[in-house]
Amino acid sequence: MVLKLLKLKGIIDGKSDNLIEKDCILIEGERIEHVGTIDDFGQLDDVQVMDLRNYYAMAGMIDCHTHLSVIPELGDQIGQLKIPASRNILRSLNNIKADFKAGTTTMRVMGEENYIDIEIKNAINEGLINGPSILASGIGLTSINGHGYALTSTDGLEEIRKRARINFHKGADQLKIFVTGGVSSEGSVLNKSSYSLEEIETAVYESERAGKYVCAHAHGGEGIDLCIKAGVKSIEHGTLLTDKQIEKMIKNNMWLTITSFIIFSDKGVGYGDRNNSKIREKLEKVRDIAKENYSRIVSSGINFVLGTDSMHGCLPEEVKFVTDLGVSNIEGIKAVTGRAAEACGIDEIGTIEKGKIADLIILKRNPVEDIEALKEIFLIIKKGKIVEDYL
Ligand SMILES: [Zn+2]
Repeated sequence: MVLKLLKLKGIIDGKSDNLIEKDCILIEGERIEHVGTIDDFGQLDDVQVMDLRNYYAMAGMIDCHTHLSVIPELGDQIGQLKIPASRNILRSLNNIKADFKAGTTTMRVMGEENYIDIEIKNAINEGLINGPSILASGIGLTSINGHGYALTSTDGLEEIRKRARINFHKGADQLKIFVTGGVSSEGSVLNKSSYSLEEIETAVYESERAGKYVCAHAHGGEGIDLCIKAGVKSIEHGTLLTDKQIEKMIKNNMWLTITSFIIFSDKGVGYGDRNNSKIREKLEKVRDIAKENYSRIVSSGINFVLGTDSMHGCLPEEVKFVTDLGVSNIEGIKAVTGRAAEACGIDEIGTIEKGKIADLIILKRNPVEDIEALKEIFLIIKKGKIVEDYL
């Protein structure tokens, strides 16, 4: 087993409120064996020592909401999901590479058609291609009249039960369900629900029995109320959340995934779907409300994490967004590391501690002082291996 000793300028461990008082990480195989100071190590034989004393280490980032094949800049995201599997897998490769290079070592994928997320996850795990670890949802559950409907609809309790079971059989890590309308589809309404309470409850029930959980696409209104009632674990987007709903989510220990860049960036929905007046109109409305709402949300005490929603390579922009709203840099970092791992229910990643998987990013500057430092990556280590080739 190859041992690697990383000597660093500083370590952000993903749970402490500042740099920790230690500057060395020992990696054995794919895991972190020890975090300490140089005095902890006597004579170490067969150790590859890496002098990174000008650099900072933090856990690799976790994008809690994204897709593999979608490129918002191209517009018609639903249409992109309909592209045949073989081509969509190829289309995904550049996206994965962009995310990986930007320091994302785990992607929670919130729905693809044809199980391409599970195929890509397996290909990465088998070492056929390089890339971040994938937490797959398989086929997202949406009703025939719902947002996110591309090729597959799932209606009624029996179909939901079956789709959930097929997804888990194929290797899904969690379930994605589209409850309210979305910005990037025509005609869907952001505060209503295309699913009934019973349907959402069935999705939750089936997931929990499989030891998994449900992430629900929901912006606001009745849709969010039903998700809260049904026991959904994570609300995705939540741009129109009210104080009362926030309070209930806190009480129920729920998570919220904030996705800002796709809404506010020039390369997001606003560019890709600029010629679609119905989508543009909705986007304008959401832009007006979301900034104010998200600043209330991040100061409310709710459990929040961050997702690029297919803005590939842009996870640092999501962190920047919440720090601009007043979240401290270290809390912003936790939202893509330690807290994100909690939200995903994966305790092997997200922090730099003994026994955890050695997914690390090595930064040129200290991101606790300047969050822009997240964009200056010197080195990426995934499962203990230095990433030299990003695909
Ligand atoms: Zn999404």
